[in-house]
Amino acid sequence: MNEAALAREQMVFEQLEQRGIRDPRLLDAMRKVPRERFVDVETSGEAYGDHSLPIGEGQTISQPWIVAHMIQSAAIEPRDRVLEIGAGSGYSAAILGHLANRVWTIERQTRLARFSGQRIAMSGLANVTVLRGDGTLGWPPAAPFDAILVTAAAPRVPDPLRRQLAIGGRLVLPTGEEPESQRLTRIVRHGADEFSEEDLGRVAFAPLIGEHGFPEPGAPRRR
Ligand code: SAH
Repeated sequence: MNEAALAREQMVFEQLEQRGIRDPRLLDAMRKVPRERFVDVETSGEAYGDHSLPIGEGQTISQPWIVAHMIQSAAIEPRDRVLEIGAGSGYSAAILGHLANRVWTIERQTRLARFSGQRIAMSGLANVTVLRGDGTLGWPPAAPFDAILVTAAAPRVPDPLRRQLAIGGRLVLPTGEEPESQRLTRIVRHGADEFSEEDLGRVAFAPLIGEHGFPEPGAPRRR
């Protein structure tokens, strides 16, 4: 086993299994995806560290445990159609690609959309599509989704994402107005206008910027 593969095994055991991640398919996917390929070369030696890492454009790839916790909370099944908002490095989309039938991931920043698209293509994941755009609008052409994951913090739940959930669908996202502290929230759609909401704990994510998110930095404030 090479060094990265060893570090990956150790990460899965110490950071995930020992901290309550139980879904065997998810653990398997986290054992498969080479996280070192999704971070910048300068930081690839730290790819399996128990923390987030910079991926350029002021953005970060989340700590492995957070990736696993969000995906486990969305309870992905093999036949699921999944939407992710915030492709970033493409790492969490690659994990989702191993678990779901079809994955769409939207990224706002052109450079990151290109970067994650290349990484996904190199991984041979033909069921994952990277799109560039404002993910707060969701992706109507592929809706409804069995699961939607948002990997940036929204001031409040974007309405288009609720509307694009299938009945029984799960939406997992960090919400809150505070820049460095939000609540991870799970919303389940039980009927046309019937949703339940649960608090999954405190998290810290970069802002979701878009029509149903925070305003563009430097743009006039919307109310
Ligand atoms: N899931 C990523 C981490 C993403 S970091 C990974 O595994 O690496 C959050 C990402 O959300 C950033 O890349 C940021 O550019 C993006 N983002 C912020 N607002 C967005 C929006 N409205 N639509 C799509 N992407 C957005």
